[in-house]
Amino acid sequence: MSRFWTNKIANLDPYVPGEQPQDKQYIKLNTNESPYGPSPKAIVAMQEQVSDDLRLYPDPNCKQLKSALAKAYKLKTEQVFVGNGSDEVLALAFMGYFAGNAEANKPLAFADITYSFYKVYANLYGIEAKLIPLTQDFDIDVEDYQNLDVSGVVITNPNAPTGKALPLCDIETILQANLDKVVLVDEAYIDFGAQSAAALVNQYDNLLVVQTLSKSRALAGIRVGYALGHPDLIEGLERLKNSFNSYPIDRVALAGATASVEDTDYLGYLCEKTIKTREAASLTLQALGFSIIPSSTNFLFVTHPDYDAQTIYLALKEIGILVRYFGKKPRIDQYLRITIGTDEEMNALTNALTKICS
Ligand SMILES: *Cc1c(COP(=O)(O)O)cnc(C)c1O
Repeated sequence: MSRFWTNKIANLDPYVPGEQPQDKQYIKLNTNESPYGPSPKAIVAMQEQVSDDLRLYPDPNCKQLKSALAKAYKLKTEQVFVGNGSDEVLALAFMGYFAGNAEANKPLAFADITYSFYKVYANLYGIEAKLIPLTQDFDIDVEDYQNLDVSGVVITNPNAPTGKALPLCDIETILQANLDKVVLVDEAYIDFGAQSAAALVNQYDNLLVVQTLSKSRALAGIRVGYALGHPDLIEGLERLKNSFNSYPIDRVALAGATASVEDTDYLGYLCEKTIKTREAASLTLQALGFSIIPSSTNFLFVTHPDYDAQTIYLALKEIGILVRYFGKKPRIDQYLRITIGTDEEMNALTNALTKICS
């Protein structure tokens, strides 16, 4: 607290990221990072950027990266926006489309159990949140998204931290029921087994699809995310971005991200490996008595009928394995979110859990 803090600062409720401990080497299964490295082509491209050219600003329009993304999703470059991680893209989209006009008096709709940053942005921009409860089984009921009196809708697909995916036809039903407002679909985990709404961008001018290179492309360290949408929605984001920071993506990140997006084979290879490990780990954990939500992501959301989630979390940490426990939050206080690591890491996890849960 400082006497210079404004009410604005004092009233913030900042996001608390998963632990990134610097003290000792953990098996890190807590922040959904990839256990594998990024595309080797991306590494070479980044190494090439580390030169005297770093004296120059990067391309403020990120033309090459946008072209690569446009090609990958069969869209035009005017339908692509890029930012410093999808968190920044989300922050700009919230500021631009869910706050700041007459509609801003209306709340923004999103699920009661979802990515906790949405609440933080809503608080930052003075947007009221209309939480729409997931069903008992952690499903989104599309009926709940009809006749909403809100400024916009955010859907996370697949959802985090539950890992459940919504079929594209359900996303389309939500889009059709909300044609007069922006429907933002956060697809951070889409490559691990769900259908992307990118296929609907040409049909719906109210759709904004947000994705990231942090999870499936194993590039959390360079901070690149993007949005796909109607050229006018994208132009709105560009106007905001250029009123805040014209160079959010540096030369090294631009080169690495472009090479990564172009290397679609490597993306497929990474996702296939992760899915295979995920399915094996699900079976092993089930055999240990855990209930597991069917996952379309690179993590599992699990609960054990006989062992307290926080106790398991602490026991694992003691052994040097980090998973994510969200605290005493309603509905999910007995759940743990476990990132899919390598087969070896998952074996270490199940060995540890065999000891803890016996
Ligand atoms: C990880 C994650 C993000 C943020 O990703 P960055 O691109 O690394 O900022 C956004 N949304 C969801 C649902 C995530 O899980």
